[in-house]
Amino acid sequence: MLTNDQLDRWDRDNFFHPSTHLGQHARGESPSRIITGGSGVYIEDRDGNRLLDAFAGLYCVNVGYGRTEIADAIAEQAKQLAYYHAYVGHGTEASITLAKMILERAPKNMSKVYFGLGGSDANETNIKMVWYYNNILGRPEKKKIISRWRGYHGSGLMTGSLTGLASFHNKFDLPLSPILHTEAPYYYRRPRLDMSEADFVSHCVAELEALIDREGADTIAAFIGEPVLGTGGLVPPPQGYWPAIQKVLKKHDILLIVDEVVTAFGRLGAMFGSDKYGLEADIITIAKGLTSAYAPLSGSIFSQRMWDVLVRGTDENGAIGHGWTYSSHPISAAAGVANLLLVDSLGLVGNAGTVGAYLNAAMRDALAAHPHVGDVRGEGLLCAVEFVKDKDSRTFFDASEKLGPRLAAALLGRGVIARAMPQGDIIGFAPPLCLSRQEADIIVAAFTEAVNEVLGRP
Ligand code: PLP
Repeated sequence: MLTNDQLDRWDRDNFFHPSTHLGQHARGESPSRIITGGSGVYIEDRDGNRLLDAFAGLYCVNVGYGRTEIADAIAEQAKQLAYYHAYVGHGTEASITLAKMILERAPKNMSKVYFGLGGSDANETNIKMVWYYNNILGRPEKKKIISRWRGYHGSGLMTGSLTGLASFHNKFDLPLSPILHTEAPYYYRRPRLDMSEADFVSHCVAELEALIDREGADTIAAFIGEPVLGTGGLVPPPQGYWPAIQKVLKKHDILLIVDEVVTAFGRLGAMFGSDKYGLEADIITIAKGLTSAYAPLSGSIFSQRMWDVLVRGTDENGAIGHGWTYSSHPISAAAGVANLLLVDSLGLVGNAGTVGAYLNAAMRDALAAHPHVGDVRGEGLLCAVEFVKDKDSRTFFDASEKLGPRLAAALLGRGVIARAMPQGDIIGFAPPLCLSRQEADIIVAAFTEAVNEVLGRP
């Protein structure tokens, strides 16, 4: 058994952590936390602290921690067959079963699932398939992809380019040129305060139309978006946004990639965000909630329309030149099957809707009147509180004040984990979908105290 100090030293000496201030961590200037266990919505660290994880890891542990049903399915699969690949038509019972289960839950126009390992690689697959599709259709110029500022689609070369957040571009020579960005559907940050929600939707549509005009519709292959903006601020779309955007895309024959890495399998109180907002996707990206992160797995679900062209492509050119060693890994697939069964048997999609509405209402009641709370918003079990220096003029705090991280730290001091979102003073909540009302009350009470500690009692 390692002593705690040994682990801490090894961590700082050897481990390159993602999304971490590397120097501060290596020098021991920032705290580390070593997690040792979890049950339900709680995790435990090595020091014996029990913390309510109101962000479900990275909004992924949807069924909650410590589910032995999934652990057992993983163990059984590992004992029976830990690995076989899926190339050249190979499969396992788990991967075939999971593909069927996904399509039974997905919007009706979807046809086939390709499995990857995480959301980033799934979106890489999507871009390649969009390019292949247009090449097969004889449209080699139609290749650019439109994403939104504040969208989050991963941190690879293409997917980091799709992501519309500065820290994922700076010093990495991103975004790459085939990626374009348009206005984020973020009503609270609308360009003029006197805009109504309808005015703002018209503005988003006009921006998109102008971009398409400038670039030429015959150069634009696809538009990618999350049903509810996630890491960019947890922002539900303004009323009427998606129907208006879809109309523009259809007019210009631009494919729609709906990135449901966060929203699929219940987070919004619907099985898919596409169902909730009436989205007719050509590709849907899934990951996190597919296995509740008990094992790494992602998927790209293709519509019948795209699938037909992909089939034509291989009839004309031979087998598709795309695949990962671990595509549809049987252990991850077994975790996915057990996880989706659990989502159903525990009624987690419904629970996300009802307890999510409760959490959002309670957060609004507790904090909306605070002089530094500009916006409380959410959908299902996503909830965000955005802070401002001055509410009437919507003046934001200077980033150097690090208000978001200070609020998250004060909340952590009260035993609740939330996330200081990367751009703006926004605290995000995305707890496991098994959250109870009592646990929602604990989150709201702790956060209210944390806000009062950092910003003063109103
Ligand atoms: N797409 C969305 C909407 C996400 O929120 C994320 C991760 O948070 C990704 C893609 C990337 O997924 P991963 O981190 O598994 O690569």
